[in-house]
Amino acid sequence: MNTLMQLNFDNTFARLPDVFYSRLNPTPLPAPYLVSFNADAAALIDMNIAVTQRADFVEYFSGNLLLPGSVPLSMLYAGHQFGHFVPQLGDGRAILLGEIKNKTGECWDVQLKGAGITPYSRRGDGRAVLRSSIREYLCSEAMHGLDIPTTRALCIVGSNAMVYRETTETAAVLTRLSPSHVRFGSFEVFYYRKQYAQVRALADYVIARHFPEITNTADKYLQFLNAVITRTARLMAQWQAVGFAHGVMNTDNMSILGLTFDYGPFGFMESYNPKYVCNHSDESGRYAFDQQPEIGYWNLSALAETLTPFIPEADLQNALSNYSTVFNDTYITLMNQKLGLTQNSNQDFSLAWSLLKLMRASQVDYTNFFRALGNFKSAPDEKNEQLRDQFIDREGFDKWANEYRQHLQNEPASEQARSTQMNKINPKYILRNYMAQVAIEKAQQDRDFSEIDILLKLLRKPFDEQPDMVKYAAPTPDWAQHIEVSCSS
Ligand code: AMP
Ligand code: MG
Repeated sequence: MNTLMQLNFDNTFARLPDVFYSRLNPTPLPAPYLVSFNADAAALIDMNIAVTQRADFVEYFSGNLLLPGSVPLSMLYAGHQFGHFVPQLGDGRAILLGEIKNKTGECWDVQLKGAGITPYSRRGDGRAVLRSSIREYLCSEAMHGLDIPTTRALCIVGSNAMVYRETTETAAVLTRLSPSHVRFGSFEVFYYRKQYAQVRALADYVIARHFPEITNTADKYLQFLNAVITRTARLMAQWQAVGFAHGVMNTDNMSILGLTFDYGPFGFMESYNPKYVCNHSDESGRYAFDQQPEIGYWNLSALAETLTPFIPEADLQNALSNYSTVFNDTYITLMNQKLGLTQNSNQDFSLAWSLLKLMRASQVDYTNFFRALGNFKSAPDEKNEQLRDQFIDREGFDKWANEYRQHLQNEPASEQARSTQMNKINPKYILRNYMAQVAIEKAQQDRDFSEIDILLKLLRKPFDEQPDMVKYAAPTPDWAQHIEVSCSS
């Protein structure tokens, strides 16, 4: 069977003028081996797990051999990094192999991350380490499991080639799938060069490819901007509701499709703390958890600026002003859903707000509290001790629980039905940093990749009870409290 060779490439980005990218081949990686393969993501490009049996599979996904039909290139972009504009970035270690059109007509970019030096590598070595590749692989699939828009991950191929970061580590190539790898920074690079025709050409490309319904409208650039604003606002609301911190929200890491993109020093919040900073090099806390919605807006403003040659200023401001409405509506709706409240208006955030204040004071585990809240008993004599005991301020909890009870009286569903519904939005399992770290250490020390596959399977269904996996639902155990997560990638 020659399944691998039948991938149906249709490389629209490579057909754009070459100002948008540099064509080049990946740099060979010595003695590659398969670390993990994600059959779910493979199905998106009509690829069957049987292909991993081929001896040359790892040659293709390390960049040593080129898939027939691929036209490899690195994309050009710029970006605001920690608020400062960097006029030229670009894929410094990623190579887009091309786009695959699947049987249902969907198109997926196939990108090798860590495939060697490119014209945009600056001082980097063009490589990715196994550690950061495992983190992106697990987290992007965890986000997908949580129903949060994200890029996907097909496989990791490792090598014993050494890479120098804070210490010496082995290299790996992550194959990333995404409907698009265009970023806000892809527009910024041409705007700041005053090459407005290229900005327009890129916008036309993205519209034709991803927003075909607006192609023939008179104000298509405004509608395009509106679509990006809406998607980004919703994404930020989803991150806030689930407790995800991205860590490096530079404009070059912002997807034009509102996907969670470019996983680096991300972290899922454990104890509720709005000031949570997952990126150790973010000393000012610019990308702290509670700053994300604001930064999303800041980044959209940077994108909007690149469209000023094509959109009247007033329309542009008006579009941007919708951001907070979409964000607030989505966030409050999600938080009310987490509380099991269907009758609250999307303006009513009071109950969630008072709960978050209590959770912060007692450093309650964000994920586990909401999951356990599905078992809240609303009978007046119920103490709900399992929940109550998580708070230092027990009276504060009792007072909140009374208010909650009153809200629940307006809910038409039975307690059982509410619980079932809440368990569909409050995950039981998230990717806690220590979990990824255990999988990484096994992989690094013994070439034992089993934990990666276990976590992948677990996180695919984060809302399911999975009774034999409950150890993964616990907060970080004491022995893992001091695991340092390196931010280098
Ligand atoms: P990131 O922080 O991973 O989003 O990367 C920011 C920029 O640095 C992008 O242009 C990357 O392509 C580039 N970059 C990151 N790591 C490397 C590396 N090891 N070699 C070359 N370029 C890199
Ligand atoms: Mg990046």
